[in-house]
Amino acid sequence: LAAAWRAVVADPSPLVPGHPARSSPGTVDAAALLARREAVFADVQEHYFDDPPVMVRGWREHLVDADGRVYLDTLNNVTSVGHAHPRLVDAVAEQWRLLNTNSRFHYPAVVEFSERLAALLPEPLDTVFLVNSGSEAVDLALRLGQAWSGRRDVLAVREAYHGWTYLSDAVSTSVADNPAALETRPEWVHTVPAPYGHRGASPARYADGAVAEVERLAAGGTPVGAFIAEPIFGNAGGVALPDGYLAAVYAAVRAHGGLAIADEVQVGYGRLGEWFWGFEQQGVVPDIVTVAKAMGSGHPLGAVITTREIAHRYREGGYFFSSAGGSPVSSAVGLAVLDILRDERLQENAREVGGYLKARLEELGQRHPLLAAVHGSGFYLGPEFVRDRATWEPATAETAAICARLRELGVIAQPTGDHQNILKLKPPMCFSRESADAVVAALDRVLTTGW
Ligand code: PLP
Repeated sequence: LAAAWRAVVADPSPLVPGHPARSSPGTVDAAALLARREAVFADVQEHYFDDPPVMVRGWREHLVDADGRVYLDTLNNVTSVGHAHPRLVDAVAEQWRLLNTNSRFHYPAVVEFSERLAALLPEPLDTVFLVNSGSEAVDLALRLGQAWSGRRDVLAVREAYHGWTYLSDAVSTSVADNPAALETRPEWVHTVPAPYGHRGASPARYADGAVAEVERLAAGGTPVGAFIAEPIFGNAGGVALPDGYLAAVYAAVRAHGGLAIADEVQVGYGRLGEWFWGFEQQGVVPDIVTVAKAMGSGHPLGAVITTREIAHRYREGGYFFSSAGGSPVSSAVGLAVLDILRDERLQENAREVGGYLKARLEELGQRHPLLAAVHGSGFYLGPEFVRDRATWEPATAETAAICARLRELGVIAQPTGDHQNILKLKPPMCFSRESADAVVAALDRVLTTGW
């Protein structure tokens, strides 16, 4: 599988006419590097893999490790425009050459980026706060909700992940990410079940249950000041919410003076084929939208977009200051990413190639009983593996083994969801049809020959 990619990725000559040759990382001794890492990081940073490879270069949707092995990167909803994009590199360098400093002054790039970001959102979402990450964006969104409603109580969806800062972690109840999540939740965080539209439950049940919970809390004297949810269920591999779910829950929360927060950090910004397809296809406009990941294509950049009134209410009593959030360089990155997404029509690519990949995976499901469903759309797909299609008994161990085999075949993949039986396929948005074919061929081979 890797032969065709290797030829492209290993060749350091310029792929863009007139652009300098691609950088070489020199020789990297992976074993020595891992030993050094062990001394300083060993138990500090969470990693998806027991033995994560040492990656030294990237190009578009390809990664190269220290031993020269080439991989297809399907586990990357951050690097939206692809690895080492020359235009992005140039834009960052240019802004660094002009200036980069803290948020004390006004800067052309910051104003222009904020304008262009606000223009992506429907009315009345026109006010932008720039931060450094998705967690910070969620934190600020929850603070806006508190300032608006005067209440701390929040309703969140179980199994979701919203970040690691104090507030964003409090509303994250994915036991796969944090086994103690449900027990250690503060008393002001209330949760409703993950609204899976499958596994035998009636979709309407989830909306009714969430609305009933909103009413129960209000009647008990703790009405929620905010409801936070991903508009499609990213942490479960892109599972769609039941039709009408957000409309029903938003209406109930708003009726008691609370706000609706759409966490678009993971599924937003075009990878579903439209900027904010998640809430658009549910026919709702949230009060607050959080964005990060794809908007910086790997550079630390996040944002909260809300209404003028909500922002003013917050500024009356709270403060907002971030030294590097929305710096000139971050904003230059944001602008370059927007230009590349537009000029290379990467949203269309997500729609077309993502649709093609989904259809091909569904074909595989017809031949391999283990592959029971393919969730998601565009470039956020979640093939789900079960032992029994009637009971949806999760094939957890099998999914881990499949991922390990895929990696040997040059495809980086990882299980997700509380049962760890769904793959999260979220490649850079420049992912090609050939790469989609390669993923399907690899998975077909694993499912045919055994894992
Ligand atoms: N919200 C969602 C839905 C996420 O998936 C994530 C990260 O995975 C976050 C928030 C936190 O973003 P970050 O890791 O940039 O802090």
